Amino acid sequence: MKAIVVNQPGGADQLQVCEREKPEPKPGELLIKVKAAAINRTDIINREAKSGYLDLPILGIEVAGIVEVANTDTKIPAGTRVMGLVNGGGYAEYAVMPADRAMVIPDSLSYKQAAAIPEVFLTAYQTLFWLGELKENETALIHAGGSGVGTAAIQLAKQLAGARVITTAGSQEKLDFCRSLGADVEINYKEQDFDEKVLEATNGQGAAVILDFIGASYYRKNLASLQVDGRWVLIGLLGGAQLENINLMDLMMKRVQLKATLLTPRTDQYKAALTADFAGRALPLFEQNKLKPVIDTVFAMGDIQQAHQRMESNQNIGKIILNMDE
Ligand code: NAP
Repeated sequence: MKAIVVNQPGGADQLQVCEREKPEPKPGELLIKVKAAAINRTDIINREAKSGYLDLPILGIEVAGIVEVANTDTKIPAGTRVMGLVNGGGYAEYAVMPADRAMVIPDSLSYKQAAAIPEVFLTAYQTLFWLGELKENETALIHAGGSGVGTAAIQLAKQLAGARVITTAGSQEKLDFCRSLGADVEINYKEQDFDEKVLEATNGQGAAVILDFIGASYYRKNLASLQVDGRWVLIGLLGGAQLENINLMDLMMKRVQLKATLLTPRTDQYKAALTADFAGRALPLFEQNKLKPVIDTVFAMGDIQQAHQRMESNQNIGKIILNMDE
C-alpha cells in the first residue's frame, strides 16, 4: 500500500509517499480502506520527533473509510463506512482501528467530511464537557476560533450546552467564520487586549471556561479573563511552554481549576468511552445539520508537504484533509 513516512525528523520536506506493508488487524480491530485522513498539529510535532509520547512509523491519528476486514464480533461488519481515531498509521491507504472507537459515518456525510470530525470534535467535546464541565448559559472563551478544534468547540458549546461563546482569532476572515458558526463575541487578539474585551462582555465577571491552545503567551490575559471558580483547560502550547515570575497566589485567589490534557497518549479504553459518549450526543446533530465538519482544503496524498506547510503557516480555517482515494 501507499503510505506517507518521515525520512528524517524535521520539516515538511521530510515527508514522502512510499510503499509499505498493509497492516494486519489484531483481534478487536478493523482493517479500514482509508478514503480520507486529516492533518493535526500532533502530526507536525511527531514529524519533528518532538512529542515525547509517540514514535510512529506512519503518521496520522484519524481516518474515514470503509471496513475491509472486521476482526471482531462487534456490530461493524465489512463494508461499513466508519470514521475515528487510530493509534498512528492514518496517512496510508489502509489503517487499523480498535473496533470500539469506530463511529458509523452518517449517510449525509462524505468521507472527506467524516475525516474532519474525530480528532477535533472529540478533543473539543472532552475539554469543554468532561474537563471544563461547561453548563447551559455559562460563558466559554474559545481561543484560536478558526482552528480545527476551535471551529468544533464553538459549535459544540452552542449546540450541546447553549453556552455563550467568546472567541479569539488573528484575522477578520477567521472571526467572521466563527460568527457564522454561532460565536457571540469575536476578538482579534492581534489588535485588541482580549482580556479587556472578555471582561467588558461579561460585566467584569470573566468566562466560566477557557479553552486554551496557546499557553505561556496568554497566561496573564487568561488569568484576567477567567471568573472566580472558573475552569481553565490547557490543551496546546502554540504560544510557548515556559513561564517566569508566576505568583501561584493569583491562581488561589481566583480558585482557578487549571486542567491540562493530551488526547493522543490516553488509553484505548478512555478513547473508546469518549467516542461512545460523543457519538451518542453529537452524531445525531450532524445528521440534522446542526453540527458541521469544517473543511479548509483537500490535498492529494502526493501533496502532503504543502498540506503540512499550510497548517504551519496558520492559514487554515478548520481541517486540512488528505484525499487517499485517487
Ligand atoms: P490549527 O487548525 O492548526 O489552528 C491553530 C491556529 O492557532 C492557527 O491557525 C492560528 O490562528 C492560531 N495560533 C497559532 N499560533 C498562535 C499563537 N502563538 N498565538 C495565538 N494564536 C496562535 O490547530 P488544531 O489542529 O485545531 O489544534 C489547535 C491546538 O490544539 C494545537 O495546539 C494542538 O496541538 C492542540 N490540540 C490538543 C489536543 C489535546 O488533546 N491536548 C488535541 C488536539 C489538538 P490565528 O490566525 O487565529 O492566529
